[in-house]
Amino acid sequence: MRILILSPHTDDAELGCGGSIVRFIEDNNEIYWVVFSTAEESLPEGSPVDTLQKEFINVAQYLNLNEDNYKIFNFRVRYLHEKRQEILEHLINIRNEFEPELVIGPSINDYHQDHQIVANEMIRAFKTTSSIISYELPWNHITFNSELFIKLEEKHISAKCNLLNNYKSQILKNRSYFSKEFIYGLAVTRGVQCNSKYSEAFEVIKWMI
Ligand SMILES: [Zn+2]
Repeated sequence: MRILILSPHTDDAELGCGGSIVRFIEDNNEIYWVVFSTAEESLPEGSPVDTLQKEFINVAQYLNLNEDNYKIFNFRVRYLHEKRQEILEHLINIRNEFEPELVIGPSINDYHQDHQIVANEMIRAFKTTSSIISYELPWNHITFNSELFIKLEEKHISAKCNLLNNYKSQILKNRSYFSKEFIYGLAVTRGVQCNSKYSEAFEVIKWMI
């Protein structure tokens, strides 16, 4: 299956569906991963501006993805709304070239301003061509509809932790959602809901068979 992954900032998709990405690659799906902002203004003081871009490339290399499997845009963090139409046009180009069967991106219930833009443009671009699901970032949601579960094993969650360990700049900022306890805790919680040891939950925006 051709799977398009949309990440407003470099670490969002790993946090929301890193275990599932590992499983998709293991199952030989074709991945194209788009990052919209490398969040140069959200780095610890004194960090080089390309820090998050390098950290994302480390993640891609860990997953054996090459440059044909991802695209990094450099829109300004927290200002994606100013580039809404440009983002839509990029997504339409990607739709025409990659023809994804499944698109995974942020939730329309995610209150981060950049995530809302990507969620809305994702639906606008793919609403009649692809199945669309949204990953879970609990600190950004007031409500989240856990409608689809991707069952995972220990190896997928431990690989998810390895992916996130590449983001040293964010770990330095003591972001609680980077902790192993949180990642395992959420995966176990979602696993309990679908009779699996671990899982990641998704909202279904559109499903086509
Ligand atoms: Zn983000």
